[in-house]
Amino acid sequence: MIDNRTKILDGSRIADEIREEISAAVVTLGERGVIPRLDAVLVGEDPASMVYVASKAKSLTALGMVSETHNLPDTTRQAELEALVDDLNADPEVDGILVQLPLPDTIDTASILRRVDPAKDVDGFHPENVGLLQQGRPRLVPCTPAGIIEMLRREEIEIAGRRAVVVGRSDIVGKPMAMLLLHAHATVTICHSRTRDLADVTRQADILVAAAGVQSLIGPEYVADGAVVIDVGMHRITDRETVERLYRGNEKKIAAFERRGAVLTGDVDFTRVLPKAGRITPVPGGVGPLTIAMLMANTVAAAKLRRGF
Ligand code: NAP
Repeated sequence: MIDNRTKILDGSRIADEIREEISAAVVTLGERGVIPRLDAVLVGEDPASMVYVASKAKSLTALGMVSETHNLPDTTRQAELEALVDDLNADPEVDGILVQLPLPDTIDTASILRRVDPAKDVDGFHPENVGLLQQGRPRLVPCTPAGIIEMLRREEIEIAGRRAVVVGRSDIVGKPMAMLLLHAHATVTICHSRTRDLADVTRQADILVAAAGVQSLIGPEYVADGAVVIDVGMHRITDRETVERLYRGNEKKIAAFERRGAVLTGDVDFTRVLPKAGRITPVPGGVGPLTIAMLMANTVAAAKLRRGF
């Protein structure tokens, strides 16, 4: 019988490992006179987006990189945002550009993402980078799926030849995740909101990635014995009854709720899936920290790429 604690994939520890490597790379670049710089563009005052951008900026500066944030009001017009992106594209000091999503409804998001110089596209959302990933020649890859692959690799979890099921087909997580798993030689199935008998499909998975954005969607009946379960979902619960139901007997989580009035949870019903899974990521402390670490890695990669290092 495996101890439940050894099953838990510690994203925070792996992210620390990656950060140390990035920090060394930043020092080496500094010796060549290069300090990588990421410019974030934040339109409006969505509280979650503000927190994300601030935490990305903090992580970058902690690693010795430069971070600039451009705050624009939610009344910003398409042309103004395009002009800012053009300026950042042309600025030789800027290595990476991150346009924080979601943008207000008045903005054509796809057109803005297309406008970012693909060589500075640290989110990997530009069609050129999407196409390169599709062709198996990845350059700048979306951070969340890149982080998950990095975790599987560092934990020596075999991908080749195994069955992977990805729940979710977004451009940000589901599709690039499926593509990376495919290129790593998994047999991949992608599920979405129209998938029939979802549990029948997910039970086939040796590696199950839950990225549906539906709280606690994946219960034990969705998981094969011994499967690797990766939870991308991120939900803030403020309702005591739900917290007590989901985390019965988990004193640490209940105490966190008492302190903060909220806890984060994922798309996986962690408490009930844990005994069944072979390995599993927690929320928080699983995929989230890896996403930020890969953004740092992409910023360094973009700084090198542009200079032909
Ligand atoms: P999204 O754009 O809303 O996409 C959700 C996908 O899940 C869609 O493809 C949707 O299908 C599918 N889906 C929805 N309900 C489903 C159901 N009941 N059964 C099966 N499939 C279902 O979300 P996203 O941007 O990919 O993000 C997914 C989750 O990950 C969110 O909770 C988000 O907060 C979280 N996230 C976390 C990180 C991190 O760093 N930890 C990073 C990014 C996102 P259709 O295509 O048919 O609508």
